[in-house]
Amino acid sequence: MILVRISVEFFAALVLQPQCNLSMTLLEFVYFKKHTFIPPTNEDKVLNYGFTKENIHDVYLLPFLDTDETKLIAFQYKIIHNILPCRSSLFRAGLVDDDICSLCRLEKQSLVHMLYNCSESLLFWEKFTQWWQEKFSETIVLSVNAILFGWHQNANNKRVLNYILITAKYYIFTTSVCDNKLSFDRFLLRLNSKLDVLRMIAIKNKH
Ligand SMILES: [Zn+2]
Repeated sequence: MILVRISVEFFAALVLQPQCNLSMTLLEFVYFKKHTFIPPTNEDKVLNYGFTKENIHDVYLLPFLDTDETKLIAFQYKIIHNILPCRSSLFRAGLVDDDICSLCRLEKQSLVHMLYNCSESLLFWEKFTQWWQEKFSETIVLSVNAILFGWHQNANNKRVLNYILITAKYYIFTTSVCDNKLSFDRFLLRLNSKLDVLRMIAIKNKH
């Protein structure tokens, strides 16, 4: 397993670092890896969403700061690195018969389509912002980068917002996987029962 991991990283380094050449030995690679930083392969895409080399670390840190649920951390990690399965990637892998979005059944489903551009998801986010306004008396505009990578501007309830954003994306993803219809009311029910459980755990841990 370690050998497989090393060889994947080795070849990734060959592609990513122009100073690498095919005559590089494994020993040289280990030395090289210890002394250089290899950026994640999806970094350029994240930068295209308006982040900079200076604040991109906030994107990588966000899931670890706003939740301690391993499932949600791993989920957000996959979004950041553009490796969350969607109909297009499953179709390319030959695992499904078509790449049509299971939510709107109209367009190809890329990751961005599923979580943001899909007409069903846009409707969901519209209801989300209305609900947030009613609940927290705060107006938010959810851009594509806020939905994909989290809320990085000032907000009164920033950490709560980011936690609920990840939970909402996870709901959209699981609904798509199960071929179900998105329902903001159903999401709220799930969120409330989840918050009840978290509240009970917090009370139990205090005693
Ligand atoms: Zn769609």
